[in-house]
Amino acid sequence: MLRELPRLNPRVIGLRCIRCRAVFPIADYFEGCPICLGQNMPASLAIAYHEFPKSMTRLADWQVYPDHPTLGEGNTPLVPLEGLAKEIGVRALCLKNEGANPTGSQKDRMSRFVVERALAIGASTVAAASSGNAGVSLAAYAAHVGLNCVIVTTPEMNPNWRRAIEMHGATLLATETPERRWQVLADRVRAGDWYPATNFSVPPVGSNPFGVDGYRSIAFEIFRELGTSACSDILVPTSRADLLWGIARGYCDLQTAGLVEKPPRIHAVEPFGRISKALAGQDYRGSFPGHSALISIGGATVTYQALDAIASCNGSAAVIKDKAARDDQRQLAHCGLYLELSSAAALTGLRKLVSQGVIASDAAVVLVGTASGFSEFQPFTRPIAFVG
Ligand SMILES: [Zn+2]
Repeated sequence: MLRELPRLNPRVIGLRCIRCRAVFPIADYFEGCPICLGQNMPASLAIAYHEFPKSMTRLADWQVYPDHPTLGEGNTPLVPLEGLAKEIGVRALCLKNEGANPTGSQKDRMSRFVVERALAIGASTVAAASSGNAGVSLAAYAAHVGLNCVIVTTPEMNPNWRRAIEMHGATLLATETPERRWQVLADRVRAGDWYPATNFSVPPVGSNPFGVDGYRSIAFEIFRELGTSACSDILVPTSRADLLWGIARGYCDLQTAGLVEKPPRIHAVEPFGRISKALAGQDYRGSFPGHSALISIGGATVTYQALDAIASCNGSAAVIKDKAARDDQRQLAHCGLYLELSSAAALTGLRKLVSQGVIASDAAVVLVGTASGFSEFQPFTRPIAFVG
């Protein structure tokens, strides 16, 4: 397939470390900031813009690659949930339904820019360590632009996700453990074979910075629709915090541009203590093991970008239980929103932060519903009632 090379936004001046603020030339730094890595304090780099437009008229002007054909990601619905707002005791409540993206999750916002960057540098194969939404999304976007794609997964991968990845023509490879996936990815990236979408370092940094930059658009869309008075708090189901950081950075960029006085508070929701423990003083580079059915936000690690996002937007972290998330998944489905279990955690996290007094009754809250429930695989325990 013959394509025009993606055009880099002329406002981009390089990549800036989110920890030490050093700026590096535009290139790929998959293991984060070289200076911080040298100090054994891994931290992501982020796309650095020398200025922002004075308005949100053209959202593309705020993005790293402004013009390129896509599958139509973004501009997802912001659905008011008035009954739930009343029940929980907040002034207003909406859910940003990222399940409405082309492959059913927020990952499409990242995949679009990963494949554009891969095209721009002439890479032929993109790759990710994923057992879920990220793998399906990258496979679809690679197929759309004619790139090869490899997804490194584990043998017990959900069959619905496996089917979609194989239908998109990507290669699936399995490793015995989730941790081993990162080593395989690291070896093939260092050999120059694959262009990675996801992290492979231990301790981890965020995913590919060109991809993570794509999550800023969620902040831009919420701001365009609600302004600032109608959004005081945002809750984000979180593991290694690509999405959390992207939304926080989007609002910080709006503040830098003079369009927002103060960003909303942005809160992480997690299935067991990781970010919350790091916020309480534990070393973010440690291991935080735990078990949960919320696999899209599982994993035993924390990234520096999670702490950076929460600090920049005066946020917090809520730890929730699987059982409560299951109840909230059902309640959201009864409101017409069938989301995956990890997405429903945003609502569970809101209940927790309201009960703790972190979120007050005058709050106007946005939940980020990260992914559709349709890919979730659950065996049925009772037959459908038979008629006729
Ligand atoms: Zn640094």
